[in-house]
Amino acid sequence: MPQMPPDRTPLARIVNPDSVAVIGASDDLGKFGGRVIHYLIRHGYRGRLLPINPNRAVIRGLPAFPGIAAAPGPVDVAILAVPAGTLLREVEACAAAGVGACIVITGKLADAGPEGAALEARVAAAARAAGMRLVGPNCLGILNLADGAMLSSSLALEVERVRAGGIGMVSQSGALMGTLVSLGHRHGAGFSRCVSVGNQADLELCDVLEFLIEDAATRVITLYVEGLKDPARFAPLLRRARAAGKPVLCVKAGRSEAGAQAARSHTASLAGSHAAFAALCREAGAVLLDDPAVMVLAADALDRLPRLPRAGMGCAVIASSGGSTVTTTDMLAQHGLRLGAMGEATRAELRRWMPESHVHLPLDTGSFHDGTSEDGLGACIRAFMRDDDIGAVVVPMTTQPAMAARAALLPPLAREGGRPLLYVMMAGEVGDAARERLREAGFPFYDSVAHALGVLQALEAEAEGRGRAALPPPARPAGLALPEALPRGALTEEEAKRLVAAYGIPVTRERFAATEAEAVAAAEAIGFPVVLKGVSRAVVHKSDLGLVRLGLRDAEALRAAHAALLAAPVPLEGVLVQEMARGEAELILGARHEPGLGPFVLVGTGGIWVEVLRDVQLAPAPLRPEDARAMLRRLALWPVLQGVRGRPALDVEAAVEALVRLSWLAADLGPRLVELDLNPILLRAAGEGCIAVDARATLA
Ligand code: ADP
Ligand code: MG
Repeated sequence: MPQMPPDRTPLARIVNPDSVAVIGASDDLGKFGGRVIHYLIRHGYRGRLLPINPNRAVIRGLPAFPGIAAAPGPVDVAILAVPAGTLLREVEACAAAGVGACIVITGKLADAGPEGAALEARVAAAARAAGMRLVGPNCLGILNLADGAMLSSSLALEVERVRAGGIGMVSQSGALMGTLVSLGHRHGAGFSRCVSVGNQADLELCDVLEFLIEDAATRVITLYVEGLKDPARFAPLLRRARAAGKPVLCVKAGRSEAGAQAARSHTASLAGSHAAFAALCREAGAVLLDDPAVMVLAADALDRLPRLPRAGMGCAVIASSGGSTVTTTDMLAQHGLRLGAMGEATRAELRRWMPESHVHLPLDTGSFHDGTSEDGLGACIRAFMRDDDIGAVVVPMTTQPAMAARAALLPPLAREGGRPLLYVMMAGEVGDAARERLREAGFPFYDSVAHALGVLQALEAEAEGRGRAALPPPARPAGLALPEALPRGALTEEEAKRLVAAYGIPVTRERFAATEAEAVAAAEAIGFPVVLKGVSRAVVHKSDLGLVRLGLRDAEALRAAHAALLAAPVPLEGVLVQEMARGEAELILGARHEPGLGPFVLVGTGGIWVEVLRDVQLAPAPLRPEDARAMLRRLALWPVLQGVRGRPALDVEAAVEALVRLSWLAADLGPRLVELDLNPILLRAAGEGCIAVDARATLA
């Protein structure tokens, strides 16, 4: 008898169901339905288990039912690993039987083309009409390690025992999820709930993220993202996770897609959707990574090790071989890390164990006085963990006697010291005894220095994000408001400059001229030397076509330049006569609206080589002045702005001010802003300001 439709069963119930029906259950482990029921039993599912199969009376010793309608209800979750051809019928049967949610492992739907997508839409509609939820399709289900409910066909479950812990995971790839769980287990990491969302026909990544933020068993959240169904939900959830004290680590596929788009502006080509996503993660305190393995190892470190006290501290490298300490130190910079500057108390402690000449980082325990190395190791690590400039200790181990016994000394030191200690077992098989000791002690280890430093870099990003949570929201500078009537479409240089000037960004004095005589009059009014530019809405890069003539000293030079412009291969609406500005460096400032993610601003090394140099930083708008300053500091150009090779320090504060004002313009325009470039803005010596000499914009 059909039951009342469930009222949108909550995820907490789907993840931890009292009853599970396995549609297509089988004794055959070669089949999805065979593996699902096998893993449920093997990993100790404690609820009611209902195998569904019309051709069997008993499966795995349990009574089987010919269809979901014949199974005794209520059924919280049905797992479907049926062929696509019968999926709709089975989902409809589940809906009619009042099942709370279906986990659809079946693939070849929207992932396989338009026909599959149409079927998927029908399946989702059938579920929705009945108030039944869907996970998937094309997913590998849910691993609930906290409660021992493995609702999945993932081969990661092909082990004796799985390990529960604090890492939650949402993944758009089921196979990657299984792989990462298995990798984590090898390192002794433990997981709370791992959800493979597949094609997200109903429940989507953000739903699961929200659940994990509330979930008491989850302390750290990992995400593998391909595309967001509802991007606007993402950043607010990241901020909620941070407020709840749960770090979020994320790998986003599709990093390389951005550059491929044909772009109408510099900003569009430099600030694609991946860059915007990365900027959003940084602002909201989430850690974005390239390598899924490092994501899991870093999540484990955040779960089982103390966190960094704060961002920006150095680290200590200590081990018994000069080779491993030196090569590890050499690799720090490429991970944005550095050695700590030891304080006097730390040095005093080190002097007790080794000759003065060896009291420096990296520390080689081979220099310890004879017979003291074990006590000395402990004492030095304790001293590091009290040092104001040492946030973490890295121990890269090479082969040596008693490796396992030495490894076992470390976990208590890390716990007592309250700072992360990253142990790297660089050796192969001969290091396995040490690894095993650490697994038994519940302590993480790494197999390579690159992994350990990748993890430390992630811990640093987490600490930075934590620190940013305390900042007040950006404050609007006085007197900013959008003009009454906004131009639309592709703006001319003049129109774009008027728009940014309304927000207090300095621009060149200039005047449009339709004829040569008007141009000469304009130049006399502005004052020589001047710049002459051809005006055409069809042109993106004027200098490519010879439409920019700089440094015209008098009327004669102006007339010659004017004649040359008229000979250009594009029809001109007229010319722009402009003051000839001076500056010490060229910056680009840009803004754009990323659909679903909101407004962003960009700053970078400007001029005609911007796309070649790609020295840019992006952040969501609006900005605080300290955000703008931090963006400038991250540029390769930064040392130049501070003054190098006898050149003056430049007016960084003027650039900060312009960037903040542009960010408010972007925020106020919202979706009306397609893109806007100020390239270049000329930056002068400190105290002398900056000026935008070129501008272009497209408004919707
Ligand atoms: P486009 O980017 O369309 O090729 P720009 O207006 O940016 O044209 O001009 C190209 C270059 O000429 C700028 O990068 C800048 O170096 C220089 N330039 C342009 N306008 C001025 C100006 N008013 N004063 C000084 N230099 C200028
Ligand atoms: Mg330009």
